[in-house]
Amino acid sequence: MTIELVGDDEIRHKKGVYDSVRCRLCGSDDTKIQSNGYPIWIEDKNAKGDFTGYYICYGCQYDKDKICHKCGTGQIIKSIRMIKYYDSDGLWTGEYICPSCHNKYNRSYRNRNIVLTIKEGGGSVMDVVIATVLEIQTCSIYAGDKRLPFGMIHWDYGIIGTKTSQLKDNKFYFNINEYICADTYFCLGLDERMDNIDFVYIIPTDERTNSTGRLKEGRLSITKNSNKYKRFEADSEPYNDIYHVIVEKEDIR
Ligand SMILES: [Zn+2]
Ligand SMILES: [Zn+2]
Repeated sequence: MTIELVGDDEIRHKKGVYDSVRCRLCGSDDTKIQSNGYPIWIEDKNAKGDFTGYYICYGCQYDKDKICHKCGTGQIIKSIRMIKYYDSDGLWTGEYICPSCHNKYNRSYRNRNIVLTIKEGGGSVMDVVIATVLEIQTCSIYAGDKRLPFGMIHWDYGIIGTKTSQLKDNKFYFNINEYICADTYFCLGLDERMDNIDFVYIIPTDERTNSTGRLKEGRLSITKNSNKYKRFEADSEPYNDIYHVIVEKEDIR
């Protein structure tokens, strides 16, 4: 599944305002021109999906072949998603990495004091939603021969735990009680009918401590539009868009 997350809002083409723009990757001030005569500049996003303040030209973003910079494999079939390769600052290098090199490269990962093994495949529907937005691959994670209930590792968020809740009495309830904690929890709040992902909270595990510094276990309840969790709120729109693409595909089957 290849989904290009390019909304109109990501493409900047106001004449005049962007006249002095240069591509962060190739340095060119030249990019594709739309039929209306305006140039297309794509907002540069870091590995977390935040705008870096720079722009990428159309050629660097879309016209290059997606070839793994580690093994040279090209994208032959659409279902193999080439992953954007970021440097240690989280900036896209302009290169790609194939899922198999990505997994090889991230094979062992240290979560607190436990060494984990990463294998290909796995992940729930909601894992796939999050992985697509973050442009990472879902995986299976093992501690020894025990498989952990997580399906994603991100360079900055670490092990990602996915939690889902339907809105009930104006509240979301997320059950967080694994025997090992994820580094970051992505809590997706759906409406009463589970039609839309209305809220996304990205909560680092270290923030979920009580007054004595111990990790809180069990149910996390968040009142809709709560101020307390405002700082953890992310834009739910990209997550909701991908969710709809996946749900609609499954309805057809
Ligand atoms: Zn460029
Ligand atoms: Zn490769």
